[in-house]
Amino acid sequence: MSTRISASLVVNEQGEIACMECGHALGPAGEPWKQAARLSQTPLQGAAGEPYSNAANVLLRRFFCPGCAALLDSETALAEDPFLNDIVHV
Ligand SMILES: [Zn+2]
Repeated sequence: MSTRISASLVVNEQGEIACMECGHALGPAGEPWKQAARLSQTPLQGAAGEPYSNAANVLLRRFFCPGCAALLDSETALAEDPFLNDIVHV
């Protein structure tokens, strides 16, 4: 039995964080998983129109499943920022 930990991720029977859509494992629960995902990083400027037009140095990072390309998480960050890691203990 798997435990849902976000809108797109579960912890599977082997204790790994996995994609809810296809079951692709991203690493052990309790560890950062974003480095195992496919990263898309684009400037936030213009991403959603005029309200974001002054965010020249802010990036929109999106993390996709390597197995099925489902969007797993997203965050905004400055280029030099490390990934924002949510550690979930179940
Ligand atoms: Zn997947």
